[in-house]
Amino acid sequence: MDMLIGGKHVSGEDLEDVVNPYDGSVIDTVPIAHLQTAQLAIDAANDAKDSLVEMSAFKVSNKLYSVCEKLKDKREEFAELLALEVGKPINEALVELDRSIETLKLAAEEAKRIYGESVPLDAGLNGKGFFAFTQRLPLGVVAAITPFNYPLNLTIHKIAPAIACKNTVIIKPPTEAPLTVMKFGELLNEEFPDGVVNTVTGYGSEVGDYLVCSPEVDKISFTGSVTTGMMISQKAGMKKVTLELGGNDPMIVLKDADIDKAVKGVINGAFLNAGQVCMGVKRIIIEDEIADEFADKLVAETEKLVMGNPLEKTTTLGTLISENAARQVEETVNNAVRDGAEILTGGKREGAFYQATVIDNVDPEMDLVVRETFGPIAPIIRVKGIDDAIKVANDTEYGLQAGVFTSDYASAMRCAQEVEAGTVFINKQSTFRTDNMPFGGFKNSGVGKEGIKYAVEEMTKTKLIGLNLR
Ligand code: NAP
Repeated sequence: MDMLIGGKHVSGEDLEDVVNPYDGSVIDTVPIAHLQTAQLAIDAANDAKDSLVEMSAFKVSNKLYSVCEKLKDKREEFAELLALEVGKPINEALVELDRSIETLKLAAEEAKRIYGESVPLDAGLNGKGFFAFTQRLPLGVVAAITPFNYPLNLTIHKIAPAIACKNTVIIKPPTEAPLTVMKFGELLNEEFPDGVVNTVTGYGSEVGDYLVCSPEVDKISFTGSVTTGMMISQKAGMKKVTLELGGNDPMIVLKDADIDKAVKGVINGAFLNAGQVCMGVKRIIIEDEIADEFADKLVAETEKLVMGNPLEKTTTLGTLISENAARQVEETVNNAVRDGAEILTGGKREGAFYQATVIDNVDPEMDLVVRETFGPIAPIIRVKGIDDAIKVANDTEYGLQAGVFTSDYASAMRCAQEVEAGTVFINKQSTFRTDNMPFGGFKNSGVGKEGIKYAVEEMTKTKLIGLNLR
């Protein structure tokens, strides 16, 4: 598939295969762009700025609604491509499509709500006699750099609000799964003037880095790992940056919890998308008294998952993004077992598949839970009480989301207030998001918020206009 720059298809001399992780077949190839091509995209996005600024909010909104309808019509086709390139079960790919459609719709709505406010300057010294108001203006060019795990919806979370508030965009999709995003770029381009949407493929370390460092890009909206995010924050200079980074989300299960509900939370939270979810349940922190019963029930439910061809409707556990990624998970689990953790079920790799795995007696110091393990793993850390649980939950560089299971309001409120995370859910696993909510982590999990309204705030600048009426 070609790149899209200034409304034109652009190919390249160097190509990269996009590989189906399930069977190793090549789905398509994409160009590996070099810096000159990235500059062409920057030029095109800058040249198109006026075309969007001059468009009425009414028209921008309608165009986003049209793209939404087009995506709805192609829902199955897009979901199949997503399942092929990411290895996620088709049912999960369809959910990503439904969420993408919803995210777009939210952006179409928000395009009509980019308000300023009147400011009472007369409340300040010498301000009497002025009338003042603010306007929210587009930043200019927004570069969206996104990861492989939810490539479509995460990209739409950047480019749809960016366009809603009249920024032009450059998309740098993930090299391992660029196709669905590139295809979506084409849909947007059918509606908007040439250059409003540009897609550049190529390596993050080269093309991504060039966008980050360019003075002609006004904002970097990045989702990906902490390592890359830190590099971006050091290099971006004065431009605005939003960083949606990794997570190591805790699920605290207190002794008065509904155990069945908590088990269901782990199944939906630790194994979704083969565990490759930023807000996945990555640490189950449970009071010792109920840990045995919880573990037995969790094992029984885990063993019901069906690993197989992502395109089969019966599959509930797909592959990881690559065999290499599965090997990394295998190594991390093996190290934990060597250091005393116990596998209750799973623990084996087959190609790019890794079995849904429950591991008990995990020590909070083990790499498995100190770093973000991006695979279908449910590590159980046993603790002595709520104080211990909160301490373990917070003993991490991450702070994306958290879930707490308890039937006691006081314990729930205490955890909600003391757990250091951008979101704390009570009686729900961390792996939950609606596309309108403010989403973004504390600590090294990120800077800034997404969720359409919040993304628009971060993609606009405020101008004050004051009229001296004296
Ligand atoms: P990644 O390696 O950081 O890559 C993310 C994107 O950044 C890719 O498009 C990559 O391009 C690009 N990139 C790599 N190096 C770059 C550089 N030096 N400058 C600019 N861009 C660069 O992350 P990943 O492995 O794809 O994704 C998994 C991570 O994302 C996990 O940590 C997960 O928790 C996190 N994540 C966070 C959220 C959230 O909302 N908080 C959501 C989903 C995922 P290439 O593909 O070409 O390398």
